[in-house]
Amino acid sequence: MELSNEEIRRYSRHLILPEVGLAGQKKIKAAKVLCIGAGGLGSPIAMYLAAAGVGTLGLVDFDTVDYSNLQRQLLHGDADVGRHKGESARETIAQLNPNTQVILHSVRLSSENALDIIKDYDVVVDGTDNFPTRYLTNDACVLLKKPNVYGSIFRFEGQASVFAPTLGGPCYRCLYPEPPPPGMVPSCAEGGVLGVLPGIIGCIQATEILKLILGKGNLLVNRLLLFNALDMKFRELKLRRDPQCPVCGDHPTIKGLIDYEQYCGIPPASAEPGSNPDEVTVLDMKKALDDPSLGIKVIDVREPDEYEIARVKGATLLPLSQLEARFTELDPNQQYYLHCKAGVRSMKALNFLRQQGYKHLKSVKGGIGAWSDEIDRSVPKY
Ligand SMILES: [Zn+2]
Repeated sequence: MELSNEEIRRYSRHLILPEVGLAGQKKIKAAKVLCIGAGGLGSPIAMYLAAAGVGTLGLVDFDTVDYSNLQRQLLHGDADVGRHKGESARETIAQLNPNTQVILHSVRLSSENALDIIKDYDVVVDGTDNFPTRYLTNDACVLLKKPNVYGSIFRFEGQASVFAPTLGGPCYRCLYPEPPPPGMVPSCAEGGVLGVLPGIIGCIQATEILKLILGKGNLLVNRLLLFNALDMKFRELKLRRDPQCPVCGDHPTIKGLIDYEQYCGIPPASAEPGSNPDEVTVLDMKKALDDPSLGIKVIDVREPDEYEIARVKGATLLPLSQLEARFTELDPNQQYYLHCKAGVRSMKALNFLRQQGYKHLKSVKGGIGAWSDEIDRSVPKY
């Protein structure tokens, strides 16, 4: 592995660092890093690693660029909306550093393909936004003995760690043996995220990857770094490998990849729309609103701030956060369709009301987002 004169100039600020030097820069060039996700976290990770001279960068993402991505996903620009994230990312990286070879894996990471994709890389970095992929990434990395550089973000808070049982530390499952029940933890799409937050957490992940490659410094192995942007504070939790861990413990029970959608309680993507008997479609909701003789009332369980941004005419606002205090305003004999932004909170509201004895309830699949897509495009998506 040699560096060209152009590369020597490009990386000169690295080369004069004793901790990097020519030998270190050659290690960076030889390194193969796989980034799961080319979104909020994936953007700073991929851009800084490419700029730093990582020779091979794999990107796993099957998604396309949406307007709502641009507030934080700097790999993609305004003109990229609608394009594949992988393609857009490859172009951005080529402009930063044409020496970096980008390998696109334009697939959804799954139990069928994960081991095959991950096996060729030295380091894996978790830039995903969902639990099935996070557990899948963790298990595959443990099985293949690859370090997994973890980061996650939500609203104003983020966390990062390096999961590497081979380096004496825990894995993600040592920390969180079981996923939260579906709908318990809102996603960034539901709960929001400050645009710069993935920049901060992603840069921490990129830093740890470079240290791993160089073999320098103290890694976030055995440590969970917590960041709060509102307080502008970092905290640190000590972690330990759990000898009882089902995947990296002394007597592992998980010896291969499982069905992670099912494990996380999420119905498989292939399920027929509306196959959940508690759900109706936005078309059903439109019928209910258009025809009062059906006697169905539509309740919007989103928060007032969201109602300000976008609303469906004829729906009554009763925020989920106030439901416990105000549910008696609802009539147990009345039929209700509950809607939210994407269909997660409305299902939560349905389950809560059912526990209180309400029987005539349906949750609107896809919420106001699906309404905007399928019924009324003048309703803004957010
Ligand atoms: Zn573990």
